[in-house]
Amino acid sequence: MKNVAIFGATGSIGASSLDVLARHADRFQVFALTANSRVEALADLCAKHHPKIALIADSTKKDALAAALASRNLSDIEVWAGEADLAKLAALPEVDIDILAIVGAAGLTPTFAAAQAGKRLLLANKESVVCGGHLLMQTIADSGAELLPVDSEHNAIFQSLAGASKADRQSLRLILTASGGPFRHRLDLSQVTVEEAVAHPNWSMGQKISVDSATLMNKGLEVIEARWLFDVTPDRIDVVVHPQSLIHSMVQYADSSVIAQLGSADMRTPIAYSLAWPERIDGGAKRVDFPAIGQVTFEEPDFNRFPQLGYAYEALRAGGGASIVLNAANEIAVNAFLNRRLKFLDIARACRVMLDTMVQSAPMTLEAILELDRAARIKTQEVITQW
Ligand code: NAD
Ligand code: MG
Repeated sequence: MKNVAIFGATGSIGASSLDVLARHADRFQVFALTANSRVEALADLCAKHHPKIALIADSTKKDALAAALASRNLSDIEVWAGEADLAKLAALPEVDIDILAIVGAAGLTPTFAAAQAGKRLLLANKESVVCGGHLLMQTIADSGAELLPVDSEHNAIFQSLAGASKADRQSLRLILTASGGPFRHRLDLSQVTVEEAVAHPNWSMGQKISVDSATLMNKGLEVIEARWLFDVTPDRIDVVVHPQSLIHSMVQYADSSVIAQLGSADMRTPIAYSLAWPERIDGGAKRVDFPAIGQVTFEEPDFNRFPQLGYAYEALRAGGGASIVLNAANEIAVNAFLNRRLKFLDIARACRVMLDTMVQSAPMTLEAILELDRAARIKTQEVITQW
């Protein structure tokens, strides 16, 4: 029996994870659930899954969580709260598997704590790889932690690398597939609304990643993520638009052979794969019906209409803290767009301004990464307030 802690249990990946875990209650126990601030949603999940620990990141809500659990006769569940407890939980000896499904750089602290403690990490929180970069991978290597990528593209690449030799790894190319998002055919993006931006054609996801998919920043963050997860330089990472989202990503080897992973667009597949690896278990996703799909197509991404994809390559080449600055600028600008304080095209504009003003040397510690992230958020906020 493996004990599982889910960071970001009230989100989209959290829900998919709980669905897979409930199908395999003989192998996995839901040990802890965390949420940012939605007390009632977290208490409802506790009523259904009976964890030992419930954690609310917003510590001002600790009493409210205790009351919500008591009102459901769940006072035996321990109540934890705050960022320090997030790190403590990720490293707790009783926990075998940490599912890191917080959105944004807020996931950095529990991700590093899980990595330092040598856990199995099911890593959905791409922003922590984007910001943590080399240091995160080094921490994992040093502790002997197991990193299983949950992001569907990286999970597909992980699967497609099975059997790759050291020599293969030095010559291969990664091909990340992208759906193209909701605006693949839309020429004028100046009047895009929030409702249009979060309506993804193929995947049902949280709001932030949905907007990132609409700007192609999501694919840019995934290029950076792939660079660190698989130790492949950006000149060997390609992006191809594949609107059917059947092929989740591919590896091209020295002999031009391409190995890919295919499946329905359902995050339960990479979650199930990562939970049970090296075994395979049913996650509940539909089988692929090839005749029903009919056609698969491919096209080049449009770097002009979606400049943030190019910014990601630029940030990787700039090295140092550029990826952290880009990620922070994007998070602040997406949040402002979702709150209807910025236009859609201002998201890319904020990223451009911040890349031009705030590129830094590579932070060598987690504290320095968090500090640069904080400073970049403050600066972005200052910049966009004037627009
Ligand atoms: P979501 O918005 O649906 O859920 C986010 C979760 O994080 C919630 O449980 C929320 O309570 C928690 N959270 C938010 N801010 C927090 C904070 N400051 N401190 C602590 N907890 C906080 O997001 P999602 O779509 O589930 O995505 C989660 C992560 O997984 C993101 O990094 C995303 O890029 C990645 N991802 C998601 C999908 C998907 O299909 N949804 C696919 C690939 C990767
Ligand atoms: Mg993805």
